[in-house]
Amino acid sequence: MTASRVSFSYEFFPPRTPQMEHRLWRASGQLERLQPVFFSMTYGALGSAQQGSIDSALALQRESPVTIAAHLTCADATAAEVLAVARKFRDAGIRRLVALRGDAVSVAGADPVYAFASAVELVSALRELDDFDISVAAYPEVHPQAKSEIADLQHLRRKLDAGAQRAITQYFFDADCYLRFRDRAAAIGIDKPLVPGILPIHNIDRVIAFSQRCGASVPRHYADRFARLGANEAARYQLALELAVALCERLIDEGVDQIHLYTLNQTDLCLDISLALGASINTPRICPAA
Ligand code: FAD
Repeated sequence: MTASRVSFSYEFFPPRTPQMEHRLWRASGQLERLQPVFFSMTYGALGSAQQGSIDSALALQRESPVTIAAHLTCADATAAEVLAVARKFRDAGIRRLVALRGDAVSVAGADPVYAFASAVELVSALRELDDFDISVAAYPEVHPQAKSEIADLQHLRRKLDAGAQRAITQYFFDADCYLRFRDRAAAIGIDKPLVPGILPIHNIDRVIAFSQRCGASVPRHYADRFARLGANEAARYQLALELAVALCERLIDEGVDQIHLYTLNQTDLCLDISLALGASINTPRICPAA
């Protein structure tokens, strides 16, 4: 493996408390020293406030030397509102977007509200607005709402054909799952990068619970291996590091040259994974004057 040919991007979510905010700035400050391709900031994920996402993306854009990719969804908004946010990002200098349909907050008896029918229409609208660099989401294990595996892939192809430059995948833990997905995508003519999204395991119980909701599978032996370590935090950290590095090494051996890490705003595991894969610390963290 020639790890130095791999580049990294890191995903954050908007903090909701001063303590979480501190953690975000610590994480972004540490990870920016690896000179990533971009940092991304999620948008209204899991029903969180969209305004918090906008503020956090703009704050990262102001404070970090790293290129910022702002996520943007169609959920719980009108088309005019979504495009107004895109303009706000653009005017602040954010040129990269991750365009998503999102998941509208369900209100009993009411239809979910989406500004656009799907991410395809959002990508088209963003393309008309400006020359953004656009990423979309892809699902190696198939989106839970997809009619079929092939319908899901064709939908991905429409998103890319509408003007997205690449897709970033939902996380997965089985390299073969990603590699089969990449082959299936190539077979229907998808030739844009499918950047693997990797979730380091900070808490195996939470990962298992969340994975059931988003359609990702967690290998059975993961739970067993973490369980055997009991409350030994150092050993659990080491196992999480080994699992993520082994997964990424296999992907890199298979030609992957960019990895997107879901940081959960935590520094250490993502930093150690990146360093183990050949990333190097190039610049000292420069703290803005108080
Ligand atoms: P779409 O691609 O539009 O549709 C989702 C699926 O529905 C498709 O894969 C397809 O199977 C099916 N589908 C939809 N329309 C059609 C159609 N016309 N014909 C056939 N099939 C169709 N959520 C957030 O709230 N905020 C975030 O910041 C966020 N970031 C994410 C980042 C990544 C990398 C990923 C993988 C997911 C992210 N999500 C985020 C979750 C995402 O919003 C959900 O998975 C959502 O349910 C689908 O969004 P999408 O853009 O993939 O939707």
